[in-house]
Amino acid sequence: MRPHLALIEDDPDFALMCRSYLERAGFTVTWAMDARAGKAVLYEGGVDLAVLDLGLPDGSGLELLRALRSTSRLPVIVVTGRGAEADRVAGLEIGADDYLVKPFSQRELVARIHAVLRRSQPPELPTVLQVGALRVDSAARQASVDGVLLMLRPKEYALLEMLAAAPGRVFSAEQLLERIWGTSWQQAATVVEHVYRLRGKLAGLPAPAPRITTVRGYGYRLDP
Ligand code: CA
Repeated sequence: MRPHLALIEDDPDFALMCRSYLERAGFTVTWAMDARAGKAVLYEGGVDLAVLDLGLPDGSGLELLRALRSTSRLPVIVVTGRGAEADRVAGLEIGADDYLVKPFSQRELVARIHAVLRRSQPPELPTVLQVGALRVDSAARQASVDGVLLMLRPKEYALLEMLAAAPGRVFSAEQLLERIWGTSWQQAATVVEHVYRLRGKLAGLPAPAPRITTVRGYGYRLDP
């Protein structure tokens, strides 16, 4: 997947040069030439990192950054002109992840983007979920209760994994259909049938296993 960058920069020559360099470096780039357009791009979503020039014609990039930081941890590299020391400091205080002072080399920009993206990767999710005596190993795609392996079909496993990832949380049949079957147009009866079979497999074990509870009118949850 090519990371998607928002380039918020009012100088067209500079922006076009950056964009073509960044695209050759393996990024998808959306260019916005003022704060208003930049905000629209950021709030539309799907952006992995923003390169934000602080000197914009319709307001300061700092205000845009402040507004963004009230709702989002999106990685941001701020760009300032030479001598704009105060802006640079303010940018970092508001929560920019890094900064560059113009003029800078395109190679340096790419290196900084890679570094910030690396730092902002979410920690890997644990591959083993434990709910009471139930152990779900996502790497092996296996579930066991007190050491006894459950013989599950792929969809039964996926259903159990999803419920076990958030014990006590209620999932609707639509949510389960969408996440596990990839559609919401299939019949809710598919979910009912899989829950029924899964319950049977959890019940016939020597050790007490978590239960799948039906929450009437809402959906299903796993109780430890
Ligand atoms: Ca500017």
